[in-house]
Amino acid sequence: MFVDIAQIKIKAGDGGNGAVAFHREKYVAAGGPDGGDGGRGGNIIFIVDDNLATLADFRYKSKYKGENGGNGETGRRSGKQGADLVIRVPRGTIIREKESGAVMADMSSDEPFVAAKGGRGGWGNRRFATPTRQAPRFAKDGAPGEEWDISLELKLLADVGLLGFPNVGKSTLVSVVSEAKPIIADYHFTTIVPVLGVVYMGEGKSFVMADIPGLIEGAGEGVGLGHEFLRHVERCRMLVHILDAAGSEGRDPIEDFETINRELKIFNTELAQRPQIVVANKIDLATDEQLSRLREYITGKGYEFHAMCAPISEGTREIVNAISKKLDTLPPVKRYEEELIPREFFENKKDSGYKISVCGDVFYVEAQWLLKILQRTNLDDYDSLRYFQRVLLSSGIIDDLRKQGINEGDTVSIYDFEFEFVN
Ligand code: GDP
Ligand code: MG
Repeated sequence: MFVDIAQIKIKAGDGGNGAVAFHREKYVAAGGPDGGDGGRGGNIIFIVDDNLATLADFRYKSKYKGENGGNGETGRRSGKQGADLVIRVPRGTIIREKESGAVMADMSSDEPFVAAKGGRGGWGNRRFATPTRQAPRFAKDGAPGEEWDISLELKLLADVGLLGFPNVGKSTLVSVVSEAKPIIADYHFTTIVPVLGVVYMGEGKSFVMADIPGLIEGAGEGVGLGHEFLRHVERCRMLVHILDAAGSEGRDPIEDFETINRELKIFNTELAQRPQIVVANKIDLATDEQLSRLREYITGKGYEFHAMCAPISEGTREIVNAISKKLDTLPPVKRYEEELIPREFFENKKDSGYKISVCGDVFYVEAQWLLKILQRTNLDDYDSLRYFQRVLLSSGIIDDLRKQGINEGDTVSIYDFEFEFVN
């Protein structure tokens, strides 16, 4: 089975705790504080691996965790940094926050994506020494690592998507115009993983053609086409619709053509309007009448029409040229923009509580959901900052800080984010 959707949990490593320790040396009665800081937790990082064509690996493993940072040690020694966890995905994988569906990243380029940041290590007690507090007996715990439920969805990156019923010759076309070698056989559903073929046009020009998993079994018998495969042509810049001109499997190419276009429209009307050229294959088996009837029908509908006998490359050069010419006029492959995770998502998590701890005039607030807001909203943006303030109010955190004796000018520290309290 071809796996193109997966849901997984990721959690970056927690930061290590800061150490409480005091310098010890012979003849030195009471040494100063020298507890080291905790190490940072490991990140969860996604990268593209072009050797992968499916998300199958994620079916068997659904939890991914970064290494925790080590605790700080005596003698000012910092804890070890947690190792990052690198997760490899096929090119074109869209990463979404599962609940809201917001796009976190489109793994189309080679740029790594840090999906969950490791928690910062806590400060050791030496950091808390002040002229009036020379022997602090406390240190900070590390911050928790970021945690997300995410969904992965593979949306292939290809310029051209091939459409057509099983056995019309899609894989054969890819195999003769590119270096890719998809399985070709005279039984249905041989294409179980998508195959991307690069078609070189000379002079440094090329395009990518996608041979996608075929229609579901029994499609021809009216069981339904199965929409799943259409997802893979969603971001193709154009479609090439292949027909069996001879109707060699007892089907009518005109009916096939209409059936697939109908399904396309049901799946996504925008996709149905994507530029499409039609290619009649198996002309070696077709009669002149069959071919001219088909040509008339297709061109009558306003489509560009070509004919070929794919296995012997008859007509394929013209088709490749026609595709390339068309592509020159089309916008680039669609990229999905990162989306802000909607505020309702955070609102729903607000009830899960928080922890406040006080150290001198610094008030530490900790909550996994607050950490998420901090990491996913841009606090340089006025509107986002206002939102963040409202959250602190509506969750009761501000009231609680007051109860715990916060004064104007004291510091509120929420993980990496610190601000001065204003009444
Ligand atoms: P796909 O399911 O659309 O990928 O079809 P394939 O490329 O796997 O081809 C299905 C069968 O049709 C294979 O046995 C091919 O050898 C055969 N075939 C493909 N193109 C032609 C053609 O132009 N003429 C003839 N006679 N057979 C073809
Ligand atoms: Mg095939």
